[in-house]
Amino acid sequence: MRMLDELFRNNRSWADSVKARDPDFFEKLAQQQTPQFLWIGCADSRVPANEIMGLLPGEVFVHRNVANLVVHTDMNCLSVLQYAVEVLKVKHILVTGHYGCGGVKAAMETQKFGLIDNWLRHIRDIHRIHESAFVGLTHEQKIDRMCELNVVEQVANVCHTTILQDAWARGQDVSVHGFIFSVRDGILRDLGVHYSAANQLPPIYRMDETAS
Ligand SMILES: [Zn+2]
Repeated sequence: MRMLDELFRNNRSWADSVKARDPDFFEKLAQQQTPQFLWIGCADSRVPANEIMGLLPGEVFVHRNVANLVVHTDMNCLSVLQYAVEVLKVKHILVTGHYGCGGVKAAMETQKFGLIDNWLRHIRDIHRIHESAFVGLTHEQKIDRMCELNVVEQVANVCHTTILQDAWARGQDVSVHGFIFSVRDGILRDLGVHYSAANQLPPIYRMDETAS
């Protein structure tokens, strides 16, 4: 229990330090949350959204799972996305992967881990369609490249949802971005993948608003 006691002591000193800087912080926080950002990231303990971006509680809405996947039928992720876009009206969705991702690494290797292998199969699907991108790379380079490609694909998956397409059809100002974090140097990098309108998507994924 000593380890857990330490968590509560840490929490008290953190709350005291926040109140020392801004005595009304928690009163204001209790009123409402108005985050501008939705972070979709990996569950990895080394990649905490708020700390990396220097944001306080209340400033980023967060969804995390193994290998930052956005699966078409994942009600958990879709519910977060819908609430963030339609109720909180976030301006930016940040799909953030990280180099050295254990989930991506496991998907690139043959060791069995059990149930999670079904989840990681989504990464293998991406590898299959981008096989030519890995020619001539070392194993470590392949994993890093796969971490980047995985982000690009998950950004696309966010954009393909009815949630984003409906938001854009309403004229809502919301953009989707692909970032990657490096645990080796603590730096968050922009992968240059940005979407802010349905007409940026391949035609097969666009909903025809006039047909309904
Ligand atoms: Zn990871």
